[in-house]
Amino acid sequence: MDVRDILGKLKSKSKSDEELIAKAFRFSQEKHKDELRYSGDPYFVHPFNVGATLAEMQVDANTVAAGLLHDVCENAPEQERDAREKELQREFGKDIAFLVQGVTKLGKLKYSGEERYLENMRRMFLAMAQDVRVVLIRLADRLHNMQTLAHVPEHKQKRIADETLEVYAPLADRLGMGKLKGILQDLAFPFSFPKEYAALGELVKDRLAKKEVYLAKVKYKIGEEMKHAGISVVAADARVKHFYSLYKKLKRHNDNFDEIYDLVALRIIVNTMEDCYGALGIIHKLWKPLPGRIKDYIALPKPNGYQSIHTTVFCMDGEITEFQIRTVQMHEAAENGIAAHWAYTMQGKPDAGGVVSKNLKWIAQIRDWQKESAGSKEFLESLKIDVFKNRIFVFTPKGDVIDLPEGATPVDFAYHVHSDVGNQCNGAKVNGKMVSLDSTLKNGDWCEILTQKNKKPSPSWLDFVKTNYAKSRIRNFGK
Ligand code: MN
Repeated sequence: MDVRDILGKLKSKSKSDEELIAKAFRFSQEKHKDELRYSGDPYFVHPFNVGATLAEMQVDANTVAAGLLHDVCENAPEQERDAREKELQREFGKDIAFLVQGVTKLGKLKYSGEERYLENMRRMFLAMAQDVRVVLIRLADRLHNMQTLAHVPEHKQKRIADETLEVYAPLADRLGMGKLKGILQDLAFPFSFPKEYAALGELVKDRLAKKEVYLAKVKYKIGEEMKHAGISVVAADARVKHFYSLYKKLKRHNDNFDEIYDLVALRIIVNTMEDCYGALGIIHKLWKPLPGRIKDYIALPKPNGYQSIHTTVFCMDGEITEFQIRTVQMHEAAENGIAAHWAYTMQGKPDAGGVVSKNLKWIAQIRDWQKESAGSKEFLESLKIDVFKNRIFVFTPKGDVIDLPEGATPVDFAYHVHSDVGNQCNGAKVNGKMVSLDSTLKNGDWCEILTQKNKKPSPSWLDFVKTNYAKSRIRNFGK
């Protein structure tokens, strides 16, 4: 373990960043020196890995340092804990002490059954709204704990794995960190569902081997056609569906493998949004699309910001194959989500408000993108609002979290709960009080929508709703 392994991962860092991280490294190593992991390894292996994961996410130096230090207070003997916290603040300042404290607090929440789960999620989201870096550290912490779960006493393994599936993976998903979500789920799967895991492995093995050869052929063909059309392909990769999400999907389809078209999908990464649509055209010219399977998440991104075009076609040899088309930026964002956005802020000062601050570099990037793009201004403007504007978190009466852009109204909330709730929306209560439908929701509000059967959305709602999703639902009602 060498601090240079961590520093090497950070693309952008100053001299003082390096010194800070090196200091945190030494401090943590010293404090944990007499502790061991279940594996018998020195305890410091754990904070070291957490720090390295965070560095890979390109977060700011304070967050990397806090990752290295995240267990120094929690692991201290009870009677020394206060002194340890003070020492941390003295040595590393308020911001890092705040992060470590936040991580420790979140760690105290334990998942146990559904009621606690909702409570857990709720607190996590509130913590995140305060400072998302705390959640990133907790996720990096969980990742390493999952990677070493085999060493943990058996009676604890399943609980930790279940908690990962029900709390941490959805959280990573909310933050748009698709790669981390998939990794966490696949690490938890064998512990949470050992029998199902083994059975699926057997089922998939042969299918995957066959698909690989086939996709190599398809990839070549696509490459040729794109070259003809003058579209440069940055990367084309066969992406094997994550094991756990395949398992979930199979369950939804009554274990019928023939209905799973995206066991392996071909992912095509291009430079511009125009090229995405160009590539889609080429694919559809070559092969007939399956009706109802074209999903344009570029025009209508998922609530977590995911953007891509998906289409499933009757491909070579009549084989049904899914394609996913996106730009380099969309790919970065889909893999690393909020952490990718964070990376763009690295050149600036780290701001304690976290990613949701107003002067982020990536806003500027979007602006440049807008200039280059021939796309309509309104479209890009709405894209900016839906995906990139400051988010707020609003709770349903049951404690579920709905994330919305700042300025969203109860009608936006209603549509994001369910389109029927939106369509039949007749009134709203916020924090127990009746409010008008055009009022503005705030972070942490509890919102209850009153519905009336057979009610129709009012066109006047279009004057105040903020999300694209609500707008399109209102416009397209009854169509
Ligand atoms: Mn830890």
